[in-house]
Amino acid sequence: MDEQKTFEDFFPVGGGADIFAKARALDEYVAAYPQPALQSLGVRNLGKAEPRVVLEELNGERVPSLMFGSNSYLSLTTHPDVVAAAKDACDKYGYGMGSVSLYAGVTDLHRELEQRIARFYGAEDAIVFPGGYAANVGIISALCGKGDVVINDAANHASIFDGCLLSGADIKVYPHGSMKYLERILNRLPDEQKGRLIVTDGVFSMHGDTAPLPQIVELARKYGARVMVDDAHGIGIVGPTGRGTAELHGCLCDIDLNVGMLSKAPGGIGGYCAADKVVVNYLRYYARTYFFSTSLPAPVVAGLIEVFKLLEEDRAGRDKLWENVNYMRSRLEALGFNTGNTVSAVVPVIVGDEEKLAAFHNALRHRGLYSNIVTYPAVRRKECRLRLCIMNSLTKEDMDAALAILEEVGREHQVL
Ligand code: PMP
Repeated sequence: MDEQKTFEDFFPVGGGADIFAKARALDEYVAAYPQPALQSLGVRNLGKAEPRVVLEELNGERVPSLMFGSNSYLSLTTHPDVVAAAKDACDKYGYGMGSVSLYAGVTDLHRELEQRIARFYGAEDAIVFPGGYAANVGIISALCGKGDVVINDAANHASIFDGCLLSGADIKVYPHGSMKYLERILNRLPDEQKGRLIVTDGVFSMHGDTAPLPQIVELARKYGARVMVDDAHGIGIVGPTGRGTAELHGCLCDIDLNVGMLSKAPGGIGGYCAADKVVVNYLRYYARTYFFSTSLPAPVVAGLIEVFKLLEEDRAGRDKLWENVNYMRSRLEALGFNTGNTVSAVVPVIVGDEEKLAAFHNALRHRGLYSNIVTYPAVRRKECRLRLCIMNSLTKEDMDAALAILEEVGREHQVL
């Protein structure tokens, strides 16, 4: 068997064989080559999402690690007020809902969370979905259909593309950040194709840069399109008061669909859309990932209400996060690493060679530094990278220890 296979060699492609054939092929490959196949994905964290963790590898080995792979940027997964609210709600409501939202799966807490999110954005209303992925899929497939067009930045999250596929609308894609190409697409649309949606990540999840929202809004107005922003990695972090990418770019009230995830900085799980009341109401009945899916557990919702209190009052520790981000980024750049164009808590270390990246990532892990490995198709092959996610609870000692490991391993693997 050829040892050089990668994840993409087992992608689902049709072709007449038994649909389980690829699963058997993967199983045989992993049994024959456990190290290369398993080295980069699938560790288990034996504790909380905190700077110092113990990770269990798939072979059972336990490695004390510095955690640079958690999206709990503001450390709200472990915030005492949030955890206390979740515990109280568990006593009052139980740990799960037992119903989809419209069949009595919604409590007073769910409604309060939606109203807080709407207020956070200055929007008329908001809807909370049971997952972030579910939010994107549900919103796009509810609002767009055959004959409409959805225009995407190439670096948009997979859930956005899946929503587009499910909608049946035409799907157009412009190269990451290219407003020239976006205008070219809009300019060539047939006049009669009036159902137009431009969708973009706010902060791009693998790059850490932001979408040029003012230009997108301007083009949308010129060509009669709606704008949806998935600000999964911007909410709570970027912008003068942490209201995200649109606030950063001064166009919060120009976004038609302010979408975000409750799973990253907010530290829980779920996704939301803040928008006009009529649109939110429509989504309640026609977004299938809302209608046909059980609602978020009340303890999570109660925790998220506390989170939005902290965010509204700007007490969630954003300043400390930015101190950490700026420190890590400037030190990485001084060492000679390429961190791309990030302006968020997602700090890439671009390696550009998949084999080198795999060895680098693996060595970092064994030296006690956990980060995310990002390869094709999440980014282009020549832009493959580590993704360091910065938390505000990292101390200077944690960051210095991580930088020392990165420098040493980076030299060993010719990344530096
Ligand atoms: N959008 C973006 C930009 C993301 O990074 C993610 C998480 N990987 C999602 C959507 C999906 O969110 P969730 O993990 O909460 O389902």
